[in-house]
This record gives sequence, C-alpha cells and structure tokens, in this order.
Amino acid sequence: MLRLLESVLTGSPFDAYIVIEFDSALKTCFNLIFLRDNCTCQDCLHPDTKQRIVDIFGDNGITQSGCCIGKDTAAREYFVSTRFQVGELLVCSWAEGHTSRFSKEWLLVHSYAPPLRPSKALLPERSTWDAETFEQLHQKLNNNKFYQMTECAPKVLQDIYVYGFAFVDEVPISLEATKEVSETISIIRPTHYDLGVWDFTSDLAKKDTAYTSLAINMHTDGNYWNEPPGLQLFHLLEHSRGKGGETRIVDVSKVLEVLVSLAKEDESWRCTLDVLTTQPLSFHQAGEEGSFYIQDQFPVLTVSKELELLQCRWNNSDRSPKIPLPCKFPMGQVYEALFRFNSLVNDPKYYVQFQLKPGQILVFDNWRVLHARNAFTGYRRLCGSYLTRDDFLARLRCSMNNRETVLNTL
Ligand SMILES: [Zn+2]
Repeated sequence: MLRLLESVLTGSPFDAYIVIEFDSALKTCFNLIFLRDNCTCQDCLHPDTKQRIVDIFGDNGITQSGCCIGKDTAAREYFVSTRFQVGELLVCSWAEGHTSRFSKEWLLVHSYAPPLRPSKALLPERSTWDAETFEQLHQKLNNNKFYQMTECAPKVLQDIYVYGFAFVDEVPISLEATKEVSETISIIRPTHYDLGVWDFTSDLAKKDTAYTSLAINMHTDGNYWNEPPGLQLFHLLEHSRGKGGETRIVDVSKVLEVLVSLAKEDESWRCTLDVLTTQPLSFHQAGEEGSFYIQDQFPVLTVSKELELLQCRWNNSDRSPKIPLPCKFPMGQVYEALFRFNSLVNDPKYYVQFQLKPGQILVFDNWRVLHARNAFTGYRRLCGSYLTRDDFLARLRCSMNNRETVLNTL
C-alpha cells in the first residue's frame, strides 16, 4: 500500500509536491508538475509510439503562472484543487478534470528525490585490455563465424561494446559478404570517400595517406567530422607479392585508466589529464576538391563526470596547426600532454599488432580503439565500412533486454 504523507499544493505550480511512502517505509517526493507531465494514460502517452501526447507547455493554465512575461498570475495556484486517492495506486485528479494513475512500480522506477531504485543498466559493463590481456581475450572472442552470423550477432555486438573490438571468421572473400556482416552489426554510414562498403588499394584514388603504402600512425577516423564513425570494419581481400602492412590497435579506455591513476599521484600528470580532456584540438580534411572538413570543438578525450571514456579523437596527420582559442593552457603544457598521450598509445605494453587476413573481419569501436598500419610492399587490397553508432547501440540494447524492460526504464 502507498501512503500520502504530505502535500503542498499552494504557491507556484513549480513548487507543489507530495511525499509518498511505500510498504517498505521508503519515502520519496514528487513534484506535481512532474506527475502531470508524465501521466501514463493513453490520452497522455501514445500506447504504440510511446511518445508523449500531453503538452504541459500548452494552453492548460500552468503556462500563465507567471513564467511568461506579460501573462497574469491567475494560474499560480493551478494544483490547489488536485485530489488524491492512495492505495495500490496513486490516483491524481487534476484541475482540468483529467485523472492520472501511477503504479507502485512506476513510482519506484521514476523516483528522484530521493531515487529509490537504481537505474537498470541496459548495456553491459565495459572491460579494458592491454597487450598482455589481449591474447586471452582474442582466444575467448574467437568463435564468431560468418555462416552462423545470425546466431553470433548478439555476441558480436556485445564484444564490440565490452572490449571495443570483435572478429568474424570464415567470411567469403568478397565485398558482398563484407556488406552482409556490416549490415548485421549496424547501418553502413556513407561518406564523401564512399557511399557503401569501401574497397581500396594503394593507388591514391582519394587524397589521403590511407590510399598509399606508407605507414599510418595510431589514430581514430573522422576527427574532422561532427560525428566520427561509431564503428569501423576491415576485411583484407588480398596481399600478394609483398610484406608488412600489420595492423596495430590500442584500447584508449585502458590508456585513460593509466592517465587517471598517474594524475592521482602527480600534479604534472593531473595537468596532462586536464589538457587531454578539456582542451579542444582542430582537425581537418582538405585533400579533395569541393569539400573541406574542419572540426575544432572537441578535446582528445571526451570523458563522463566519472572519467569514463565517451569518445577519443586523435590523428596526428589530420591535426591542424590552429589551436582553438582561447587556449586554456600554456602551449608547452599542451605539447607535453600530447607527447605523453602519444607515447602511451604507442607503448608495446598497451597496443597489440597482428596481420589482417582474407576471410577474417575485424570490427572495432572507432570512438575507443585507435588503429595503425605498418608500411607495406606488394599489392594489398582492403575493404571495409563505417558503421553508425546509434543503430549498433539500439540493436545491442534490444538483443540484451526484452522490450518491456527497456520501456519501463524510460
Ligand atoms: Zn493522462
């Protein structure tokens, strides 16, 4: 049973609240405007689209409550006449004659002052790796086969999220099969380089070092875009009459853990972490006639308030000389931080190196894992794709939770 412990209905509609007690003696407070805004009835919440229909900003009296210049304050006491019935449900009868019903479960899940139910994680915990732990991981993650792609898909999605990469084996050596794997994971993101699966050799068909046989340093792709590709997928179709071309990858989530722990001990590393997480850098792509890409709003490491990695942007080749101004730090400190970051992502303790091979697809999180390529000789043909992040996450969420669970967390 629910109990109504307190109700304050007078004054501004933004201040009106009730305090509800649950069987377990847990108590929490709800603003009435929050309850009116989130009525769960079919007239207020579309039963099929799960979109809000009620518009508390519309012409219902609350808008006139003094929050708009020039409006009278007649509706200041909008919630005064609200009536409550409390038992198995909380039933609110509002001034305009509408009734809202809230279940105990809904109230627990949506409680906020204080919150009584921790938010359910719809995505798994992430796990970081370095050179030593990568080998065991590689063994463990090494069971995804092309011909079982439908069955393997949930595991592939999870591995990419948890570890930042996954392999798919026994893939037919073709663009079609590469496209099929790409589309099982997400939606292919078109770019000015290619509209679908890309396919290249070292012919400089596009004005980018990726289209040469030169070594390419550790980087993320698309730093000069507002949205760097969420995921990337590589499939080596052929490498003949030559050698080299090994791929290297490094887990920036791991590198961030190292930076955070160094920053706890040492003032100058604290400054380094500060530069890497707050000082924007500018990146550009200017090789093609008719297009010019610049992005200068983001630091190397965009992190959450818990210092978890949200997005890494790093590419020495595409870094512009222009520092976004005002620069928060002396230039020397910026360079010291970049040198330290560069040395960590190129430390053999953290990165791993392997050869891509025909028939094996590598897919990785382009916001978390940096990749690099050694110089090579001979004929090398690589194909792959960029994949959208939101569609990958939406599919992962669905594969790990039933629909009701997801809807209940909204
Ligand atoms: Zn309603």
